[in-house]
Amino acid sequence: MPETPPENVPDTPLDLTLDAARLTARLVDFPSVSGQEKPLADAIEAALRTLPHLTVDRYGNNVVARTNLGRAERVILAGHIDTVPIADNVPSRLDEDGVLWGCGTCDMKSGIAVQLRIAATVPAPNRDLTFVFYDNEEVAAHLNGLGHVAAAHPDWLAGDFAVLLEPTDGQVEGGCQGTLRVLLRTKGERAHSARAWMGSNAIHTAAPILAKLAAYEPRKPVVDGLEYHEGLNAVRIEGGVATNVIPDSCTVTVNFRYAPDRSEEEAVAFVRDYFADCDIDEFIVDDHTGGARPGLTHPAAKAFMAAVGGLARPKFGWTDVSRFSALGVPAVNYSPGDPLLAHKADERVRASDIPIAEERLRGWLTS
Ligand SMILES: [Zn+2]
Repeated sequence: MPETPPENVPDTPLDLTLDAARLTARLVDFPSVSGQEKPLADAIEAALRTLPHLTVDRYGNNVVARTNLGRAERVILAGHIDTVPIADNVPSRLDEDGVLWGCGTCDMKSGIAVQLRIAATVPAPNRDLTFVFYDNEEVAAHLNGLGHVAAAHPDWLAGDFAVLLEPTDGQVEGGCQGTLRVLLRTKGERAHSARAWMGSNAIHTAAPILAKLAAYEPRKPVVDGLEYHEGLNAVRIEGGVATNVIPDSCTVTVNFRYAPDRSEEEAVAFVRDYFADCDIDEFIVDDHTGGARPGLTHPAAKAFMAAVGGLARPKFGWTDVSRFSALGVPAVNYSPGDPLLAHKADERVRASDIPIAEERLRGWLTS
């Protein structure tokens, strides 16, 4: 069982001979809230550059390290190094029950520690390896470091299969659902509410939209063996001018979470068709990111599943596996942390789960 980690020591280079749980503690003690990842990126780069079997590249605060052994397959292990804002939970703390507490313990410095341990201890893997450490995942999509690397150096992300070490509680989570946000705007005509018949009420015109949303029956398609669960929901409604005015406009914001067997175009078409008989004045696609198929049919994925054990389950939330999917690299999520604890002030991880994930990955990469 690891000892209590030392006090905050942000200048100490990362020691990759520490076991994965202690290394996690050390990483948590390097605060790296989104936008402030440079010290941690520097430390990761410096630690990787001591490993002669890796080629190390850097772009901004994103670090990519690769083996070049000429193997038949290349797999990518990737993770974001940023965290959400600290909630009085740094430095990390290991309690007497072996639970490591602190910002990023679960999402996802335990996964980063596993990546670093594999990088340091598997010099001759059976598949070529690419390690990606990237910034700004917890903030707006246009800042995402993986997206920046994909745009500037797509060759650094070439591979046959990717594992994103986002928290999954030690289960393999395949693919991810897409997310589409649409504004449905209805139009009316203003009038004094004392003489409502002189106008037309845009909020009332929106009523059929709400009725259709309430009646929506989610589709649960099976994609590559995993059952997804779609959702169509109003997430906001805006309308009204003053309490004595018949409103001339109402906007219902709808979020469609859809399974990865639909393309982005098909998802938009579905929503458009679903509300086709409502009196909608404007249909605006406000935000859209596609899903990713689980990719579990790929041979490298099958070998991975056999090595880590258990059954794969679908990922309902959107993650960066979608970015790999867009690059043509099937990807899954796998790491020790419980995803339900991510971003919480009492974020934590069972320390003994971290080396287990490391051992399973090592087994896959060395058997
Ligand atoms: Zn995360």
